[in-house]
Amino acid sequence: MSNLFDRSRRNLAWWFTLSMGSILVIFASVIYVAVVKDRQQAFDLQLYSKSRVMAAGIRYNLQQGQWRVKLDDVPLLGSNTLFIERLEDEIAYARWYSPDGKLVRFVREKPPTLVNITPGFQTLQRSNLWLRQVTLPVLQDGVLIGYLQIASPLTPVQETLTQLCLFLAIGVPLGIVAIGFTGWFLGGLAMQPIYESYQKLNRFTAYASHELRNPLAKVLSHAQLGLMSREEGNTETISRLQIIIKTTKAISNLVSDLLFLARHEGVLNAQILKEIDLVEFLQTLVEEQSIYCEDKGLFFKTDFPNSQVILAVEPDLLRQAILNLLSNAIKYTPVGGTVELKLVQLSRSVIIQVLDNGTGIPSADLPYIFEQFYRCQSHRQYSGFGLGLAIAQQITQAHRGKITVSSTLGEGSCFQIELPNIIVRSERFIAL
Ligand code: ADP
Repeated sequence: MSNLFDRSRRNLAWWFTLSMGSILVIFASVIYVAVVKDRQQAFDLQLYSKSRVMAAGIRYNLQQGQWRVKLDDVPLLGSNTLFIERLEDEIAYARWYSPDGKLVRFVREKPPTLVNITPGFQTLQRSNLWLRQVTLPVLQDGVLIGYLQIASPLTPVQETLTQLCLFLAIGVPLGIVAIGFTGWFLGGLAMQPIYESYQKLNRFTAYASHELRNPLAKVLSHAQLGLMSREEGNTETISRLQIIIKTTKAISNLVSDLLFLARHEGVLNAQILKEIDLVEFLQTLVEEQSIYCEDKGLFFKTDFPNSQVILAVEPDLLRQAILNLLSNAIKYTPVGGTVELKLVQLSRSVIIQVLDNGTGIPSADLPYIFEQFYRCQSHRQYSGFGLGLAIAQQITQAHRGKITVSSTLGEGSCFQIELPNIIVRSERFIAL
């Protein structure tokens, strides 16, 4: 599959993973919060029933004319051994306070001297241990006779939550990986019909361009033959034949460009790349192109490094890309202007720049100029079909490079091809 389709498939998979992954994470968090709440409520309920069982053993009697609280029958706090085994394991401490907040009796942990008696539930920390405490106001016949305070370690709740955390910590990333693979698979399925129709369209363009080549070549050769055997003085026939030849050549170029675009797709195979010295390669191009510059009255400048710049490229294709940029620079620069070809070597890439001080490109057109058949409205008077830059871009991308433009209307343009510093060793790419 071509680069573009791979990229779209990756994007689809990425967005699918991101959206489904976020839903999964939110879902896991909601479950976690719900379980925490549920476990805590269940724990509080149990603690409350234990305090009720203990409170049931409290007696409030009239003894020798005075109302007294008797705690002897209270499990744990008194001598009542009923439920004691179960309570012993589960209760960290139990305390009885008088209605005015004075400590009357306690088992296990001695309470701090200053305690705030607040009825209800509280969570406390004792070194590594978390405790849940309940303070129950005990009433008899509507009269407050004291407060029963008991606490239980939160260990069972913590254990359940640790297990849940572990499950989510393993399950959620695994789920996200599974979603990623599913997204990649679904992305492939979604791209398949689009890719097939794209291939069909490409095949159609290739066949149509191929089929058009022969009749065009025939028209051209007949027109050229006609021009050679022209009768002296028949100027109208001559000029008509010249127009036919010019138009046929332009259509031939268009057909070749279309064929080129349809055929050269994707990244180039390492086997067909050749290591060349870019300085020498560009100098040859300059020798050919400087004639066109001179013809049009333009100055041609070059700026190349003094040492060799070795790069693995497909020379014919790269030549085509640079020629397209140079011929544009020559075409869109008025007489007296300057065209410059620059080569810069960076640590990880090589940059080829084509600069001119010609008409420049309106900023509104800049985002579209690499599209096939796109031409700036202000350049309609110039010849061309709007395929040169699309071809240059396709060639650059085939070399894993990128092409960019910066331009100011009325001041000139700079087209830049950046190629990764790649050399070929035993039929493999090696990025430097
Ligand atoms: P064309 O055959 O029309 O030149 P291209 O694809 O090569 O097609 O260029 C697309 C359009 O980009 C051109 O029509 C022109 O408007 C603009 N363009 C390209 N290069 C330059 C340049 N050096 N200076 C000004 N405009 C340019």
